[in-house]
Amino acid sequence: MAKRDYYEVLGVSKNATKEELKKAYRKLALKYHPDRNPNDKDAEHKFKEAAEAYEVLSNDDKRNRYDQFGHAGVGGASGNGAGGFGMDIEDIFSHFGDIFGFGGFGGSRRGGRRMTKGSNLRVRVKLTLDEIAKGATKKLKVKRYVACSACDGTGAASSSDVQTCQTCHGMGQVTRVTNTILGQMQSTATCPSCGGTGKTITKKCTSCYGEGIVKKDDVIEVNIPAGVAEGMQLSISGKGNAPRGGGINGDLLVVIEEIEHPELIRHDNDLLYNLNISVPDAILGTPVEIPTLNGKVKVKIEPGTQSGKILRLRGKGVPDVQGYGHGDLLVKVNVYIPKNISREERKILEKLKNSENFEAKAKTEKGFFNKVRDFFEG
Ligand SMILES: [Zn+2]
Ligand SMILES: [Zn+2]
Repeated sequence: MAKRDYYEVLGVSKNATKEELKKAYRKLALKYHPDRNPNDKDAEHKFKEAAEAYEVLSNDDKRNRYDQFGHAGVGGASGNGAGGFGMDIEDIFSHFGDIFGFGGFGGSRRGGRRMTKGSNLRVRVKLTLDEIAKGATKKLKVKRYVACSACDGTGAASSSDVQTCQTCHGMGQVTRVTNTILGQMQSTATCPSCGGTGKTITKKCTSCYGEGIVKKDDVIEVNIPAGVAEGMQLSISGKGNAPRGGGINGDLLVVIEEIEHPELIRHDNDLLYNLNISVPDAILGTPVEIPTLNGKVKVKIEPGTQSGKILRLRGKGVPDVQGYGHGDLLVKVNVYIPKNISREERKILEKLKNSENFEAKAKTEKGFFNKVRDFFEG
């Protein structure tokens, strides 16, 4: 749908080498890194978009499929990834950590060590179709770790109880040198003594027992955009758990659950409604009321309406989550055939049976089967 071409996202040509891809991706990742652009949704989107593009193009198999079939070839259906759903920031770090691992990283490295990030929290939120159609603000109750206020997150009884770690000299990382047949290999790992904080504590804070974090009941207000769907995940930056020993909070991941509507069935951005009308109404025509997400609307059933006819109420569906208009409301007309009839009704029908107008015609309405297929398969 609105997904940009992956090559365009990375700003490289179709025959870019792996090295060129990596370079282009790294440049974008640094530019749009969440640490450098806090609370900037646009930067976050671009960061994720670049990661997704690189994830596909850096893999020969996926790149081949993408070159041949486009987004469809790599499962990049709409609403996944570029919309802000799909890959979250944490996934990106775990996938491409090597790319971020070297070279200066602005906000991510302070005092020579990488900022620790707290874990993500996941909560589910139930929404009615009406809420989904309009977008909603929800107050979510979460239990999350926050920095201990008594020690300001340090975990130490006082500031003099915080000391620079002797093992890593405050770097939070240690360098290991391994001898291999190719020569000496250098690798860095989180310092085992301080767990990456770069500090050791001589006397612990009594409020948090030296953890630097405490569990807190929190209420977080979340704005949910219109058009979300079951299973989608919104990532609220910085509203997850605080890490031990200070650093960046994890994210709050809000998973959408859709409460079934009593009358309308959702199918992507379209809504489906089954309308039952009587035989006389189908023949004579009748005004009907159709439920929508904005109250009832009056619709005229034309005289001679066939059972199975689909009426399309344009724009009466669910708004697109990325802002590309609205879906439609499809009304399927079912003509209700009674099972039990009175003697008198039978007489009338027997009479009608011989009328030429009531003979079944072989010809069905043009496009009828297509419409029905659309209804059930989209
Ligand atoms: Zn404390
Ligand atoms: Zn250390």
